[in-house]
Amino acid sequence: MESASPSKGLSLPTKILLGLVLGATVGVTLNVLYAPPLGQPATGTYASVAAFADGVVKPLGDLFLSLLFMVVVPVVFSSLFLGVAGLGSVGKLGSLGGRTLLWFLVTTTAAVLLGLLLVNWFEPGRAVTAEVAAQIKAQYAGDAQKRIGQSQQATGWVQMLVDIVPRNVVAAAADNGKVLGLIFFALVLGAAAIRAPREKTKPLCDLCEALYDLCVRVLAWVMQLAPYGVACLIFHATAKLGLDVMKLVGLYFVTAMGGLIVYQMIGITLLAKVFAGIAPGRFYRGCRTLVVTAFSTSSSNATLPTTIRTATDEFGVPKEIAGFVMPLGATMNMNGTALFEGVSVLFLAQVYGVDLSLGQQALVVGMAVLTAIGAAGVPGGSIPLLAIVLTQVGVPAEFLALILGVDRLVDMTRTVPNVTSDLVCSLWLARREGVALKA
Ligand code: ASP
Repeated sequence: MESASPSKGLSLPTKILLGLVLGATVGVTLNVLYAPPLGQPATGTYASVAAFADGVVKPLGDLFLSLLFMVVVPVVFSSLFLGVAGLGSVGKLGSLGGRTLLWFLVTTTAAVLLGLLLVNWFEPGRAVTAEVAAQIKAQYAGDAQKRIGQSQQATGWVQMLVDIVPRNVVAAAADNGKVLGLIFFALVLGAAAIRAPREKTKPLCDLCEALYDLCVRVLAWVMQLAPYGVACLIFHATAKLGLDVMKLVGLYFVTAMGGLIVYQMIGITLLAKVFAGIAPGRFYRGCRTLVVTAFSTSSSNATLPTTIRTATDEFGVPKEIAGFVMPLGATMNMNGTALFEGVSVLFLAQVYGVDLSLGQQALVVGMAVLTAIGAAGVPGGSIPLLAIVLTQVGVPAEFLALILGVDRLVDMTRTVPNVTSDLVCSLWLARREGVALKA
């Protein structure tokens, strides 16, 4: 998937990158030239641009996303079942599972702490006056209400944990973006397969292997469309980006994006070097397609098959380890999301004028980690949960409106460390098992 034969010209990652650059350039140019000032209705050329972006380009981008999402449920089930069944012993499942969860918790917490450090340092909320806040809120109030509505459907923390065990696994799999129930079922079934006689489980293992293999083939076809899909997604995101809002909440934007970039470039890169022995150049060469896919789709779930392929094909992680870590990670391990949540909660608290004590900030860390685990790996999956955290620290959820105008770009960026952290976790575990990685 990564490389094309020389006779075909450009390699796929290069083509995807070109799609990204082209889509962004056209989108930003049209936005800069024609978008009306904040609060004014779209008229003339920009109205046509917006109609074209919404009516033609977005459906095409969504089609590409749906093609990726289409294989998520079968890939999660088959890779996790095969991964667990292939471990050979329940003890090994326990130790691998324990280390995986430890990785998720430690890296997610480190990411929130970095976010909090930056936001305390730069204090981006102090730069937003009450008038500016009111102006942005008026523009994005409708969108904020929609997300708050979604958050009200979300259940409390205890229920969130209870819901991990599904009453009906088919319904859990069908619940768009929330695959935790399916993950739990696949884990338990895989553990049962370890204990059952081989001849009894072989038909299901063969079936899952065939299903997984076919999904990978389908994915390879879908990825051929990635340069076009990515161009559409980024064009829509940039043409409709609130550039005015970006200026108004500029310091927030810089803090969130800066934190995410620093976490990715320094944090994840160091983790890859220290825990997996992979040098930075080699690491990023191996995950070019992964990074671009995560960035352009804004979705850990849609990127999941690519994350597994990158681990196995590019770095030589055994199938059972990648198949075990990645589905869990796509749902539960979101370093970038946690960092973003920390920055956003403190920023909005600053704008609202509440000073969060150290104790309250510690609460924010805990809640950001929990919500990052609970958030669905889909575009904007963490926003409804962010509304809950805001309410818990005494900031009205309507303040979400302040960040929605720039969230698409932040979402794209936070999805990258979300998936690369999963990748490094699998590299670490494989190395611990004595596997010689393709370093
Ligand atoms: N888009 C993120 C992901 O899929 C989730 C989020 O932070 O909204 O990883």
